[in-house]
Amino acid sequence: MTDKTTLGARLRELRLAKGLGLREAATIAGINHGYLSQLERDEVAQPAPPVLQKLAAAYDEPFLLLMRWANYLEDDPQGLSANQSRALKIMGEPTAAELQAIKAVLDAMRAGRADMSALQRLDGHLDQADRAEIRRHVLALLRRADALDVIPTPLDQVTEISKLVIAGEVTLSPAVTRRLRERFGDLVDKALELILGSVQFDSREVYLQKGLYHLKHRFVHAHEIGHDLLPWHRELYASLDDKTRLKPEVHDQYERQANQAAIEILTQGDRLRAEADDSALSFDLINRVGSQFEISVQATARHVVEETHQACALAISYRGSGTGKLMPPHLYSSRSFEEGFHWQSDRAPAPLIQQHLRAAQRGDALEPITLADVRGRIATVHLDSLCTPQAVFVLFRCSPEKKPLLTRLTHVEWPLRSH
Ligand SMILES: [Zn+2]
Repeated sequence: MTDKTTLGARLRELRLAKGLGLREAATIAGINHGYLSQLERDEVAQPAPPVLQKLAAAYDEPFLLLMRWANYLEDDPQGLSANQSRALKIMGEPTAAELQAIKAVLDAMRAGRADMSALQRLDGHLDQADRAEIRRHVLALLRRADALDVIPTPLDQVTEISKLVIAGEVTLSPAVTRRLRERFGDLVDKALELILGSVQFDSREVYLQKGLYHLKHRFVHAHEIGHDLLPWHRELYASLDDKTRLKPEVHDQYERQANQAAIEILTQGDRLRAEADDSALSFDLINRVGSQFEISVQATARHVVEETHQACALAISYRGSGTGKLMPPHLYSSRSFEEGFHWQSDRAPAPLIQQHLRAAQRGDALEPITLADVRGRIATVHLDSLCTPQAVFVLFRCSPEKKPLLTRLTHVEWPLRSH
């Protein structure tokens, strides 16, 4: 009854062709054999690219083939390469002229296959398995580079041990710029501005945009190292041809993974978190550890809140460019806060959050509030805020001390949200 065209059937066929038993194959690939068995029975809806990469290596087959079977790739309708399309994505709806200009710029810039990064718009979440896998690769790299516990992370050392070189800025030679400007005018500069960084896997060169401020420069630098570090990134980009690209949602996931690798390289796994968990979270503390590790306050705040053992949540509202008006907030919760309040899943009290963001924007002092958790228990939540030219931040932190519960209103088990 097995459909030969399913991913599971094909993987099973591949394994049998190699003469490997299930356990044997799983061991070589370094994955759980129960999981492999589920995979072969098509019981895994969407096996993650890192798993497919390990299996491809174990069976000595092209990773790209398995990615194709798993339906992660698509033909590029514009005939641009995966990486060119990726750079285009952030333009919104480019006109035909813009498309042409960007393609020409990228063609001129790339000697080989490159990742063109644009970091800002990638704000989604990664699952725990991805995060754990990324951390493992990052810590191994830092160890190899002798950079573990050297704060701030010596990126040059890490670059060197990765056998990458900083080749220079994202730029074109004056002659090429002139030639392209004759054809495309200002669009050439616009296209160049969109590319924050790039890593070329064949020549091992990293390019970083000129004029990025120090902390952003470090982040983009670490992001490019991240693409090279994660085997399912490196192998994919090294073998994609110009007619194929990652499906947009998979591409976004890859970018988030590179961002996660970047923050892990800069925070050194658990190091920054441990430092921040020494005392009750506040923006003073976040600023202090952020400058110690040389990471922007925004990236530090998000990382700390996602990793901390304290119960807290973070709301960030970016200011609209031009208007300065606050945009709808992004919300992050620590694990224990999420268990208690489910803000990140579905129960965030939007009016309350907006109200405190606006108060923070006005510069008002934020008084503690009381909140009922999902079981109806009342908790005292302390607030702290920070305003920067780019954004307004509000931190919600439950008192760390175990106070007796004030009230027990109801005792209802809320259904867990399934993902
Ligand atoms: Zn990238």
